[in-house]
Amino acid sequence: MRTEKYETDVVVIGAGVVGLACARELARQGREVVILEANRTIGMETSSRNSEVIHGGLYYPSGSLKAELCVTGRALLYEFCGEFGVAHRRCGKLIVATGQAQHEKLDALAQQAERNGVMDIQRLSRDQARALEPALECTAALLSPSTGIIDSHALMQALLGDAEAHGAQLAVNTSASAGRAFAGGLEIETGGEVPTVLAATTVINSAGLHAVDAANRIEGFPREHLPRAYLARGNYFQLSGRAPFSRLVYPLPEPGGLGVHLTLDLAGQARFGPDVEWVDSIDYHVDPVRADGFYAEIRKYWPALRDGALSPAYAGIRPKISGPDEAAADFVIQGPSDHGVAGLVNLFGIESPGLTASLAIAQAVARILR
Ligand SMILES: Cc1cc2nc3c(=O)[nH]c(=O)nc-3n(C[C@H](O)[C@H](O)[C@H](O)COP(=O)(O)OP(=O)(O)OC[C@H]3O[C@@H](n4cnc5c(N)ncnc54)[C@H](O)[C@@H]3O)c2cc1C
Repeated sequence: MRTEKYETDVVVIGAGVVGLACARELARQGREVVILEANRTIGMETSSRNSEVIHGGLYYPSGSLKAELCVTGRALLYEFCGEFGVAHRRCGKLIVATGQAQHEKLDALAQQAERNGVMDIQRLSRDQARALEPALECTAALLSPSTGIIDSHALMQALLGDAEAHGAQLAVNTSASAGRAFAGGLEIETGGEVPTVLAATTVINSAGLHAVDAANRIEGFPREHLPRAYLARGNYFQLSGRAPFSRLVYPLPEPGGLGVHLTLDLAGQARFGPDVEWVDSIDYHVDPVRADGFYAEIRKYWPALRDGALSPAYAGIRPKISGPDEAAADFVIQGPSDHGVAGLVNLFGIESPGLTASLAIAQAVARILR
């Protein structure tokens, strides 16, 4: 079979929100960028299966990439939304304690937020929280006014549009199936009817759930730099009827996730999730039976939730690089000085808050390449 060969400057593997942000950043620097996307269109995996929350940046350990890039990314994202007309709302969120025993954890979270440079967190009593959200039951709360919600599809369209305006090209239905590192750069092979080899000076591996596998397929990549990949599904249930809340409501975080929270979309429709379900394969089916656990969790902060009000909505899968019994891993942005392969940047473990941090991750990638 004939193989086509092309040369380009940058290949970005994956057109989720992070790959698109990287492609845009590098295209704006005047580099020639080709984005390879295995699916028929952009953003069909994790970037369209999340809570669509613009996070404040409270939770993550001080000095971590998650903390730094979430706080920087949030500011960049609000600015980007304003400039490119991406629908969003700075609705704010409440993090609630539902018993005295949780107050210490709530205070610890407020202190962590400050250490992360999130200076607008307000500690509320039960009455102050209920004055904002009368349907809420809690014993105390934190208010994060800079948390918001965003139309993630509109964001990705805007990122792609700006990348293309600066010369980037998107190839859909085009999977990076193998690669090879050589002295002057990398070659990436794509499958399909006419197999193609793209020679590039730079490759950004932003393949999300498949990023570890994609790096493993690059001949010459030292395997000791591959993290172990784990999958943790987060299931969502939607509420029938309107929710009597105008802000997001979160419990305290649980191992592996942020707890079953109430998020709103821009039309005001409420959904609850995601829980944490460790899985072995990528399967987005939501088991209706899991609703039982949701009712119990949600009623801790919203006792008036009616029986039968929840129905399965969708699921997303976290691209984890730490297992169920391990401490949560940070984002990994792995460049040539880490693994020794010139021109290659791997993005591993880009789970939440990757949507919020996407523009800051793109800037960090560009810095590594400089
Ligand atoms: C349940 C859940 C809730 C979340 N909630 C939030 C939230 O509220 N706020 C927030 O900030 N973050 C949230 N996140 C995190 C956020 O969604 C992700 O960090 C972000 O979407 C990751 O984007 P990505 O581009 O890295 O990955 P993806 O969106 O998965 O994109 C990767 C792309 O690569 C493509 N691809 C894979 N392999 C190949 C290949 N070999 N060749 C070509 N293309 C390939 C895939 O088809 C896909 O389109 C959440 C995540 C989950 C799972």
